[in-house]
Amino acid sequence: MDKNCIFCKIINKEIPCDFLYEDEYAVAFLDIKPNNPGHTLVVPKNHCQNIFDIDDNILRELSVRVKKLAHAVKMGTGADGINIVMNNEPAAGQLVFHAHIHVIPRFLSDGYKHWPGKPYAEGEMPAVAKKIKASL
Ligand code: AMP
Ligand code: ZN
Repeated sequence: MDKNCIFCKIINKEIPCDFLYEDEYAVAFLDIKPNNPGHTLVVPKNHCQNIFDIDDNILRELSVRVKKLAHAVKMGTGADGINIVMNNEPAAGQLVFHAHIHVIPRFLSDGYKHWPGKPYAEGEMPAVAKKIKASL
């Protein structure tokens, strides 16, 4: 529990929200500013910031809840598909620093486009792969 964290306050029921699910590891509730109606956040109960400090076991447990909520959000909203998104650090668009996974219902008609792919420069691809593998 971090007393300055808005998601800890939601988990503690100090701030109201539309809860969809709760168990010993996680909660799920509706995002207050949805990309589409039914946009859901799946949130570990233990406070951690993001993918870089989350406990492995909690992440495993969380992923099973994400799958469960993905099914329910798809069925409940009649969505054609689901995006699973996790923003980690400000450069990636993270605004709330309590780890959470977005379950976003998508509709063929919603008009959203994915961000564009950019080609690698000559020789760049193996060099990037080498650096990442060295960091594993
Ligand atoms: P992120 O950019 O991944 O950190 O996203 C944080 C998300 O939390 C945003 O989509 C917000 O709309 C959502 N959010 C912030 N405050 C609340 C709240 N009180 N209840 C529900 N969702 C919230
Ligand atoms: Zn928190």
